[in-house]
Amino acid sequence: MKPAHPSDDGPVLDVHVPCVRCRYDLAGAHVFGKCPECGLEVLASVAHNADPEVAHLASPETPRAASTAVIALTVAPLLVMLAQGSGPAMRTIDALAGRGTSFPSQVERPSWAVCAAVLAGTAFLFARGFSEQRNPTLRASVGGARVTRLVLGLCTWAAVLAAAFGVSLSGVAHKQGFPMMVLAAQILPMAFTLLALAPVLGRVGALSRAYREARHGKQGAELLAWTLVGTIALYVTAEAVGSTYSEDLHTVATGLAAVLLFLSVLGLAYVTANGWVIAAGLRAPRIDPRRLK
Ligand SMILES: [Zn+2]
Repeated sequence: MKPAHPSDDGPVLDVHVPCVRCRYDLAGAHVFGKCPECGLEVLASVAHNADPEVAHLASPETPRAASTAVIALTVAPLLVMLAQGSGPAMRTIDALAGRGTSFPSQVERPSWAVCAAVLAGTAFLFARGFSEQRNPTLRASVGGARVTRLVLGLCTWAAVLAAAFGVSLSGVAHKQGFPMMVLAAQILPMAFTLLALAPVLGRVGALSRAYREARHGKQGAELLAWTLVGTIALYVTAEAVGSTYSEDLHTVATGLAAVLLFLSVLGLAYVTANGWVIAAGLRAPRIDPRRLK
């Protein structure tokens, strides 16, 4: 399959470089593309076959700022989901157990402020770590447009949460449905952020040499975006449908949403773990053949 934008896959190799995994001759392949035989990133083989000194040229100029940015990028969504998912999850457990709501809905309001601060802080750390001044090589490898898109996503998500907290202070939002509205309002910025995060994690692998983690982190972030959209959509729909139509349908839908939320948290933890390895790789760039498999 030909990529939509051939230039996005980087220059074409005009030397004979064997794929590190399957020995296929990569001459004619794009540097940012994949081995046509086994799918391994071409750059992995190029870096592996290059002179160690040359490979070292590609390491980030300010490794600490870069690795801090990657850790913040993968930890922040997990924190935000845990902080906001705990309220609905506890209430669902209460409802399924046939108890009244023991979990106060008031915890949601401060969590909006905390999550907004976490996301804004992450946007700052990422913009700083991937800036032209601090890490021009890393920024060029990821692409300036991708960096901007991810910063935009994080800032929009933070703004939605900050606005929710602001409105909740005014007392206008003492309605039952307000937390649902806040959850629904986050679907777009959250999906946008996670889908922008995926290619960034994938490209950072080119410099961190943690190719396997970079690939898994990329796929994980893409899958997560859709799982979380499904979870929130199901949960919000269940609340809307539940009281008016069928109690049973409501119980099934909220139960299913709780299971999806649990899976999402596991998935986010997995992306965070991959981010950790990528970040460690940025601080000590080297090629580990075991990580190419
Ligand atoms: Zn191959």
